[in-house]
Amino acid sequence: MRTDIVKIDRNNIDIKEMRHAGEIIREGGLVAFPTETVYGLGADALSAEASGRIYAAKGRPSDNPLIVHIAEFKDLAAIAQQVPSQAQALADAFWPGPLTMIVRKNSKVPYETTGGMDTVAVRMPSDPIALELIRQSGGYIAAPSANTSGKPSPTMAEHVALDLDGKIPLILDGGPVQIGLESTIIDLTEEIPMILRPGYITREMLTKVIGDVETDPGLIAADSDRKPKAPGMKYKHYAPKADLVLIDGDEEKVVAKINELTAEAEARGERVGIIGTDETIARYSRGEVVSIGAREDEDAIAQHLYRILREFDDLGVDRIYSESFATPRIGQAIMNRLLKAAGHQVLTV
Ligand code: AMP
Ligand code: MG
Repeated sequence: MRTDIVKIDRNNIDIKEMRHAGEIIREGGLVAFPTETVYGLGADALSAEASGRIYAAKGRPSDNPLIVHIAEFKDLAAIAQQVPSQAQALADAFWPGPLTMIVRKNSKVPYETTGGMDTVAVRMPSDPIALELIRQSGGYIAAPSANTSGKPSPTMAEHVALDLDGKIPLILDGGPVQIGLESTIIDLTEEIPMILRPGYITREMLTKVIGDVETDPGLIAADSDRKPKAPGMKYKHYAPKADLVLIDGDEEKVVAKINELTAEAEARGERVGIIGTDETIARYSRGEVVSIGAREDEDAIAQHLYRILREFDDLGVDRIYSESFATPRIGQAIMNRLLKAAGHQVLTV
């Protein structure tokens, strides 16, 4: 299959191109598109066959449910058994935006879309290209991240092309995404709403709107027997090819430790990648050193993380040493992704 890559300017959207993209989805095909979080791989959410194509293209395990993207709040009621009381308040505060809500599904939503679950994940993205595609497609687009299963989520159309070229007919290229980490997932089917995946919308922000919010204990437990409630969180799926270790602690000590470990690895003949910050990169004398951004700039750290992991894959480094980024606001989400990529290998100095 030939994969077309079409550039779309989000400030001046080419409706003809979007109509064509919508048609592909209506006919059961796949379209990759930008959202503010990461690129998504979209299909008609109400078609079992179309959803099935997403799993095939990504090589995604069939028990890992998809997120259904809508463009109007009323469409939540059309696919949910009933709309939970907190949904309206959360939508008023955070939709369109990087928040996914889990509700009980009705019979319109096929089990192929929900990975066999009786609940469905729903989000209204804010990227105008995503919203236009949803409207053009008829209203309900199932879309996980547009990467091959096991790779970091794509934050640029080029990443999508590297993973899915020849497997899908169309990639809408809206340039680099704004946030760079997947949406926060909140489960509203529990007595107390529960965060199943941390993201840009933090627990504090959610609590301000709906009161008590819990965090899935399966998320925090690195090596306990407790399984995360979001099936996707159990996979080590943000993993680079290289062995990644996080070094945590006082900045001076972290830099010294990474320099020492890098020298040792290079002496063994290994290639090393280092993820530092604008403040530290000049102090690394060996290895392939990249800055993820200024330490104060949480948004930049989130935005650059997946691109850097992919670049180290392309360079073919054997080992990556990264500083740790438990920043105040989105640090929990950043560390959640990094810890998964590292298989929870952390060295505290
Ligand atoms: P992705 O869009 O690639 O980030 O994947 C969607 C994420 O949402 C995965 O981690 C899924 O496990 C999670 N998810 C989707 N639907 C549900 C659901 N009904 N219950 C729990 N988690 C879900
Ligand atoms: Mg994904």
